[in-house]
Amino acid sequence: MSALYGTYARSDLAFERGEGMRLYDQHGREFLDFHSGIAVNALGHGDPHLVTTLKAAADKVWHTSNVFTIPEQERLGQRLVDSTFADKVFFTNSGAEALECAIKTARHHFHSKGEPDRYEVIAFTGSFHGRTLGTIAAGGNPSYLEGFGPPMPGFKHADPGDLEAVKALVGPQTCAILIEPVQGEGGVTAMSSEFLQGLRQICDEHGLLLIFDEVQCGFGRTGRFFAFEWADITPDIVAVAKAIGGGFPLGACLATEAASASMVPGTHGSTYGGNPLGCAMGNAVLDRIQAPGFLDHVAQMGQRLAWHLQQLAQKYPDYVLELRGKGLLAGIKIAPPVRDFVARLRDDHQLLAIGAGDNVLRLLPPLIVSEADIEDAISRIGAAFDAIEAETASTAAAG
Ligand SMILES: *Cc1c(COP(=O)(O)O)cnc(C)c1O
Repeated sequence: MSALYGTYARSDLAFERGEGMRLYDQHGREFLDFHSGIAVNALGHGDPHLVTTLKAAADKVWHTSNVFTIPEQERLGQRLVDSTFADKVFFTNSGAEALECAIKTARHHFHSKGEPDRYEVIAFTGSFHGRTLGTIAAGGNPSYLEGFGPPMPGFKHADPGDLEAVKALVGPQTCAILIEPVQGEGGVTAMSSEFLQGLRQICDEHGLLLIFDEVQCGFGRTGRFFAFEWADITPDIVAVAKAIGGGFPLGACLATEAASASMVPGTHGSTYGGNPLGCAMGNAVLDRIQAPGFLDHVAQMGQRLAWHLQQLAQKYPDYVLELRGKGLLAGIKIAPPVRDFVARLRDDHQLLAIGAGDNVLRLLPPLIVSEADIEDAISRIGAAFDAIEAETASTAAAG
């Protein structure tokens, strides 16, 4: 019996070593990684620049405190500001904390303007924002809320894609709209540019702040640095995490000066957030993701993945019900139960993928994926469909 909380239905599989797109278990078995530790290992495993940086950082000061100046944090913050919409950054240890900072920033913005009753956030069904009490309320998923007492007040939910429903929810208490430009966990649903532009317009008309949760879809995954860039709009606040540390726990809340000006000493804090080790890794990841050609590669691989998935859908129309997603955040709504299918891919075909809501198989390869890796993964998925087909046929014959 494990000493750990039983909050995960864990596989027995334990990995010992990783190299690029591949992971190796304790028996030396090789697995193709289209999971990336849930979109975290954007540079795959054992990236030399990350390894060198971590070793060098280990010889320096690991942790001080945010009451002191942390040069690595100043530098990472400045680089994010210089290359994005943002004017200010707050570093966290996780995605949920980045969202907490985003929601607190929006609420405090209106409080400081003398509108303390304006605290309500319009969020969306099918979304996922984390597992803290605040972020389960923001996500609104009943199965994550059940059993944990009254949900934190201040969130209303509309269906994604429905601008009229959003408009109907806007009231004098609304402070912000919060959305993932591509929903990950909920079922890999990419929002249309028109919808995101419509949300920007509603925010402008009513003086609301637009918050994007790019914890999963940001940091290059869709082929642009942020997924919202495809819609050619500018948000007020963005939460990021997952890929930002390449495997080192790190997150960030990015905001405009106007949205974040009231976040003065005493309003928010974090002991670990943005410590020297974390920010050394954040800077190293950014070196790689912002290198010339990196995002072009991601965009190109995203297109190749989409093309190969279309071929798969044509070959297996009974198994592939719908293709979803954007770039290297891809989803396949499949006919077989996704939980079993993910286990089958892992155990029988040594392919690591992940499930999402609505019975969607989620593919999240490291951003360094090659077309040969994509072809490899697709053929393993095809082999898994073939195996199900053969088992069904033999069961039918036996029956
Ligand atoms: C993973 C995720 C989070 C939560 O991040 P944690 O680091 O697990 O707290 C929030 N939003 C989205 C979109 C995510 O995918």
